[in-house]
Amino acid sequence: MKRKLEAVIGLEIHAQMKTDTKIFCGCSTEFGSKPNTQTCPVCTGLPGVLPVLNKKALEFIIKAGLAMNCNIARNSRFARKNYFYPDLPKGYQISQYELPICEYGYVTIESETGEKRIGITRIHMEEDAGKNIHEGAHEYSFVDLNRTGVPLMEIVTEPEIATSGEAADFMRKLRSILRYLDVCDGNLEQGSLRCDANVSVRPEGSNQLGVKAEIKNINSFRFVERAIEYEIKRQIDLVESGGAVIQETRLWNSVTNTTESMRSKEEAHDYRYFPDPDLVPVMMADEEVERIRQSIPELPDEKRTRFISEYALSEQDADMIVAEKRTSQWFEEAVKLGGKPKVLCNWMTGEFTRLLNDKSIDIDDSKVKPHHLCDLLTLIDKGTISVKIAKTVFEEIFEIGRMAEEIIKDKGLIQISDSEEIEALIDEIISKNPDEVNRFKAGENKLMGFFVGQAMKATKGKANPKVVNEIIGKKLSSQA
Ligand code: ADP
Ligand code: ZN
Ligand code: MG
Repeated sequence: MKRKLEAVIGLEIHAQMKTDTKIFCGCSTEFGSKPNTQTCPVCTGLPGVLPVLNKKALEFIIKAGLAMNCNIARNSRFARKNYFYPDLPKGYQISQYELPICEYGYVTIESETGEKRIGITRIHMEEDAGKNIHEGAHEYSFVDLNRTGVPLMEIVTEPEIATSGEAADFMRKLRSILRYLDVCDGNLEQGSLRCDANVSVRPEGSNQLGVKAEIKNINSFRFVERAIEYEIKRQIDLVESGGAVIQETRLWNSVTNTTESMRSKEEAHDYRYFPDPDLVPVMMADEEVERIRQSIPELPDEKRTRFISEYALSEQDADMIVAEKRTSQWFEEAVKLGGKPKVLCNWMTGEFTRLLNDKSIDIDDSKVKPHHLCDLLTLIDKGTISVKIAKTVFEEIFEIGRMAEEIIKDKGLIQISDSEEIEALIDEIISKNPDEVNRFKAGENKLMGFFVGQAMKATKGKANPKVVNEIIGKKLSSQA
């Protein structure tokens, strides 16, 4: 019998750096301006000008390299990657080829089989190209050079990713790290983080690599998984039916959910790389690298470990809370105010996240501040309101940012725990529903829910469910 086939995946990711100005000139990097308003002789490649490296971009990429456990080259340089395309006015892209700034790192992901390290081959600096526009009923296409020269880091992984799920996990972790460092905003849909996936298949357990296809145009996390999934299946079907994978570049089509052949893959020599004579080599002093290392904040992996041990969060909860730096800071602020970590976590990953997603609001921009949630949880603990009412109150806090206590007073939402009041209510429910009472007594225990429901309905959810349960239990068994 033929051996089963397994997939091998390596990713090449372009991350737009969050600098104010371009990589080799002072033009703004702001997104969404009128076409060609953010250009100059340097980024449009006019003769007689010289590029100068943006110090911030260099610092950003070194930060990213250190965070991904890379070796930082003390001596690196730029190269010209030559090709013709209308969005590339110089006829070459300034990139790095030999001697990239960062090499030999890794990123840890939590795979199904536990922690797994994905090797980072290299991270290098390069400039972005412009944008060709083929919109509208024009006779011509247009070129917008605002993006030309925006600093990018290209992150290349080793071919060590085994499934589409691992690839998506890797992308999520990478995005999280870049956002913690504040060097890239990580927006796949807007293209500030772009992922090309290299996929091949081979007999299970083989140590040789198969021929790969490179898939481009993957612009969401969902598509990372789908595109790779599709491509693996395409290659396995092809090989199993006696065909062979050819080396090529394929495009993900998110309408048909397939990958389509775009062009046969170019080789490095097609680009005629050579060192760029306009730029001096980049020499890094040890002290400078050390200074940048000191500026790196606590990263998601460390924070996750700390949250699990310090706050006894489960791994899943910790993952959700630390994925975004701001969420983790919000959480710790609430803990400092006396919130119970596990309960806070439930609210943050449940109600709060749901509302934030519904309204597409960042946690920092939300009207709900840590003290709001802590106060609300105290009111539940004291029995002033039920959890159910608390959810309504929380929605109100979310909308208008008022204190829970004021909302509760204004809307008369205080929980009814007075047993006499509840007893009277339940007597009434019992007398109105003789059928249900008889069935309950005949052993239909699930009718308990019916009685509790009636009590909650009559009080608009304000009756204390614990007291209600006790009293119903007492009444119905005493009648038996
Ligand atoms: P190329 O010269 O075609 O650009 P590289 O060796 O530079 O190829 O690798 C580019 C990316 O493709 C890297 O992420 C690498 O891990 C991945 N890769 C290389 N070979 C394979 C393969 N056979 N299968 C899957 N991924 C691969
Ligand atoms: Zn410019
Ligand atoms: Mg390559």
